[in-house]
Amino acid sequence: MSQLKYCQGPKCHTYDTKDRKKGPKNNKRNETRRRSSFYYLNGNACSMMCQADWFNTYGTRALQHFGYLTKPKVLTQDNAWSTRRDWRGEGNDRFYAYNHLTEERRPLTQDQYNNDQTIDDQGRLTI
Ligand SMILES: [Zn+2]
Repeated sequence: MSQLKYCQGPKCHTYDTKDRKKGPKNNKRNETRRRSSFYYLNGNACSMMCQADWFNTYGTRALQHFGYLTKPKVLTQDNAWSTRRDWRGEGNDRFYAYNHLTEERRPLTQDQYNNDQTIDDQGRLTI
């Protein structure tokens, strides 16, 4: 069984919906939503509104904490790879790595295609 967690939206409790209402008739209150899973903010917010509230409140501080880009990131031939699948293909070329800059194709096995380590998180081909 998964654990319940609270929506991290700082204003979640201010949105007036039936499911947020708690307490007896003479002492009603609205509470932050609590669920086993959420769809927004990487699984931490109950709605796009709560996600936007989180970003508006904490986004700048998150950038300050993790650091602003001070120079451009650059896409070169070395990190322009992605995996692709040709749904029409029948030969070895059905799965391939594709380079966005050179347009080079390198055949992949299905295992290589399904392995998210084949291309690292910087777009470099690792095989
Ligand atoms: Zn929420």
